[in-house]
Amino acid sequence: METPIRTAAGFSGVAPPEHWPPSRSTPRPERLERALDVLPGVGVTVAQRLAKLGLGSVGDLLRHAPFRYEPAAPELEIAELFGEEEAAISGVVRSVRKRRARRLTIVTARVEDESGHIDAVWFNQEWLADKLQPGTHVRLRGQRRRDDFVVKSYDLGETAQTADFAPVYPASEDVTTKRLRAFVESALPYADDVRDLLPAVLRARLELPIARDALVAIHRPLSEQDTERGRRRLAFDELLELQLALALARRDREDAKAPELGAPGELIERYRGALPFAFTEHQERAIAELDHDLKRSTPMQRLLQGDVGSGKTVVALYALLRAVEHGYRGALMAPTETLAEQHFLTIDPICVALGVRAALLTSHAKAGVGDAQIVVGTHALIQEGAELDDLGVAVVDEQHRFGVEQRKALSEGRSPHVLHMTATPIPRTLALTLYGDLSVSEIAKPPANRKPIVTRWIPQERSSEAYTRLRRLLEEGRQAYVVCPVIEESETRQAKAAEVEAERLRHGELRGFRVGCLHGRLKPADRRSLMAQFKARELDVLVATTVIEVGVDVPNATVMIVQEADRFGLAQLHQLRGRVGRGGEQSYCLLVSRAKDELTDSARARLEAMVASTDGFELAERDLEIRGEGELLGTRQSGAFGLRFASLRGDRDLLELARREAEALAGGEGLLQDEVARRATLVAA
Ligand code: ADP
Ligand code: MG
Repeated sequence: METPIRTAAGFSGVAPPEHWPPSRSTPRPERLERALDVLPGVGVTVAQRLAKLGLGSVGDLLRHAPFRYEPAAPELEIAELFGEEEAAISGVVRSVRKRRARRLTIVTARVEDESGHIDAVWFNQEWLADKLQPGTHVRLRGQRRRDDFVVKSYDLGETAQTADFAPVYPASEDVTTKRLRAFVESALPYADDVRDLLPAVLRARLELPIARDALVAIHRPLSEQDTERGRRRLAFDELLELQLALALARRDREDAKAPELGAPGELIERYRGALPFAFTEHQERAIAELDHDLKRSTPMQRLLQGDVGSGKTVVALYALLRAVEHGYRGALMAPTETLAEQHFLTIDPICVALGVRAALLTSHAKAGVGDAQIVVGTHALIQEGAELDDLGVAVVDEQHRFGVEQRKALSEGRSPHVLHMTATPIPRTLALTLYGDLSVSEIAKPPANRKPIVTRWIPQERSSEAYTRLRRLLEEGRQAYVVCPVIEESETRQAKAAEVEAERLRHGELRGFRVGCLHGRLKPADRRSLMAQFKARELDVLVATTVIEVGVDVPNATVMIVQEADRFGLAQLHQLRGRVGRGGEQSYCLLVSRAKDELTDSARARLEAMVASTDGFELAERDLEIRGEGELLGTRQSGAFGLRFASLRGDRDLLELARREAEALAGGEGLLQDEVARRATLVAA
């Protein structure tokens, strides 16, 4: 452990390495909002590509977390370079030349150190020739090939030192990790504009660096230790923000009043009667827990957990109807408009049957919301339409920043009962650490009449077998999905490809069947009517992009073909598969991919896992194993909470700490006291 030392910026557990540029004295946080085109090399096109990675501002780029680092290569003298093992060398350029060989441009620099010299070689980086003037200090990482040293990464100048330990960022096909490195590097001076909200005393106690130094450490890594300290600092900030929102919401809730909804009445009785099935034991337990909460004036805060297809939505509708029967409104909030539409399509027919007015609130359609008893929309839209002041119950789907939502929903001491719904598997112990007094209801088993989905993995050259199976089921009156391969470049191209594929299938494997095509470029109204048609069995097959991933609910659709299944992530495949197996009939999921021996190890492992298990929880665990510890940050669990740096598993200690600090803070005690107001506005923003 290092002794805390005094730095220019105050107490910090860690002394910044000497080469770090000195911090400017006055941060200007508004500079972090600047669009990325203020950076060199970022024009309109690049900015659009970055936007697809979720990067819109300089601050976003600073918070773009590397998911791993290239391992350090051994540091060797030139005379020690034998074999082809990767190594790092340093030296001075003596001469440089450039030549063409077929379609390659080759830049060669003679590099010398005290032990000898070697020709370092770069391919297709013509412009480097001008930078590698004789006398230039270089640090290179690469491999010896015969008499040359083929360079993989490099750094120039006397203080060059980052070439052998480089961050690897979540990247895309058109913005490589290497370009991201360059962009992040040019954004790094803006780290000076990050305001550090952790008081020095607390920072010293937790041995965390200041925020700016933490950012420099994760993007310009010197050692794993150094990087890890930086990451922990940023992780702590995230967890603190999350916990603070929760703690403040808890505090507000102590005074808040929600309507007391008594015991279930006549409407609920009719609802039970209108459903074509009886609730399962697990659903009944969740309902009993809900009823207990709804009777009281303390606003309910309950998490309803259950795998895809386990039957959460009907329970959620139960809660909404409980508000309606007492003259209050219910709201169902989804993360996206597509999902909101799908929820609406599921619940509207039941509401119609019960004589309850439900309305869909989208950016295109706001009609009918005024006198609706149940409103379905995105989180954002429903909060905008804040005149929902007679809200009795709010159901929040797949939105994990609970505290934040809760605070937004509160108004002047009045608060709806809130039911959070999630299919993201969070172990109960972790849920308790995270949410403290949030109660958890779990639907651990799907309806009993469910037959496990039969999953098969079929190589491309035998894909005709998959279509044969599919046609047979269609002839028996079932319906089907065909999921098109992922195309990352753009939603438009993805949509195009899906249309083309649908047309191909209409004339090929699916000739004679009614084929619709669902993708993200359809107008909301068209998408809705397409879904309605499919539900009404006016279409046999939906050829779709991953927009069907969540929420689509057509029990008669019992077979799904996923094309190029090796290109999907495990969590995504599981979500997709959840679209079938929703009724009593045997369902099938047919995963078509390239031949086994053409696949990467992890693609093979993913597909094997899908065949072996239908349990979302088990698959989430397996997903972690396949990705490896190093990629923990990218997991669905952490991602779902908007966490970039913190790992819900690896950072349990930080989570506890953040929780304690947040409690103290919300209670008006502790070290962070003066920050309460500022934090609170920060969190609500
Ligand atoms: P989730 O929202 O958890 O993914 P849903 O609520 O959409 O799951 O339910 C999946 C399917 O199972 C739906 O078609 C729903 O009508 C059906 N279902 C729900 N509960 C039962 C039940 N108790 N018995 C039979 N089918 C059910
Ligand atoms: Mg559902």
